[in-house]
Amino acid sequence: YKTLTVVDPPRGADGAGGMEYPTLITAGTEWWAPRRVLSPESVIVHEFGHQYWYGLVANNEFEEAWLDEGINAYSQSLVLETVYGPSHLYERFFSIPVSGQRWLEIKLPTAPFRGIGPIPLGTYGQYIPQSEWQRRWSRYIANADLDVMRHSAWEYLTADSYRTNSYDKPALLLRTLENYLGRDLMARVMRTYFQRYRYRHPTTQDFIDTVNEITGLDLDWYFDQLLSTGGVVDYAVSDLTSEPVEDQRGVYDRQGQRVTVQEADEAEAGGLYRSMITIRRLGSVVLPVRMEILFANGERVQEHWDGRNRWRQFHYINPSRVVSAEIFSATLDPAGPSHPLFLDVDFTNNSRRLEPDHLPALRWTAKFMFWIQNLLHQFSAFS
Ligand SMILES: [Zn+2]
Repeated sequence: YKTLTVVDPPRGADGAGGMEYPTLITAGTEWWAPRRVLSPESVIVHEFGHQYWYGLVANNEFEEAWLDEGINAYSQSLVLETVYGPSHLYERFFSIPVSGQRWLEIKLPTAPFRGIGPIPLGTYGQYIPQSEWQRRWSRYIANADLDVMRHSAWEYLTADSYRTNSYDKPALLLRTLENYLGRDLMARVMRTYFQRYRYRHPTTQDFIDTVNEITGLDLDWYFDQLLSTGGVVDYAVSDLTSEPVEDQRGVYDRQGQRVTVQEADEAEAGGLYRSMITIRRLGSVVLPVRMEILFANGERVQEHWDGRNRWRQFHYINPSRVVSAEIFSATLDPAGPSHPLFLDVDFTNNSRRLEPDHLPALRWTAKFMFWIQNLLHQFSAFS
């Protein structure tokens, strides 16, 4: 295209914002957008992406919404992450994180301020960075199991579920695939899909066939589960123990010597620890995962699990205790970088430590006490 027109609708016309047409897109500048919230950058990058996904690669955005908005949302997040870094939707109010966009507002009278939203004062405080993938994840978990993703746009249970299943979940599905394949292989997949299907009408099956052809793998199991079941991904490190190896009481023959082991003779075992880690699949979706185990002497061990059974146990006898275990996305290349399993609906159970870390609780208690103290000082003014 020789030209691209970007229209930023005037105030009061925001219903026309965020829409895509060939060579014409509409933006949507928000009044009082907080400093580091990517508005209107995010929506412009998104609508520009549609020049490719449906514009050139003419997928059916009504009947296969995930293929249209999903691939576009994935592209959008990659561009935003590369160009701008993390967005900032959460900010701190006196060190407590608060959802950034709409709190502590001053409402303006309709005349003459029609179309100008309330002024959010609090958003000009401290900000907390939030990556594109965290942002998408927080919207995905709200409707993770409400619908099967592969549906026509009008067939989802709610408008929120349409949004999750057409934008955020497919973006996370593709990002998880990228983490598995590696960025270069994923880029080859996307380039081939684009070059092969521009000026044509690809379907979901065409996309899956392209993935399988370029990777040389059969990844039907991945798409079948995530596109055609409403299943949930949830892995957990459910148990972690690490105990000194103790000799059993008794009389032993050790190098020709008669040795009697009493209860107090723990040290006899030579300072070894027996560790056990249980990892469980709580959701119905089966994905391979990687687990990283950290020992007290700094040694790191990596384990892979296909996730087919509901659980698996790992046992170690090592001169050092296990300190922690954490679950990540599996990678085709065993030396590939570790990424969080973005499709997991519960991150709180994805890792476990042998000893609880009390520092965060102390930090929050200290903050809480500080504000209680201030509040009591305020009250004392009335005494
Ligand atoms: Zn869109």
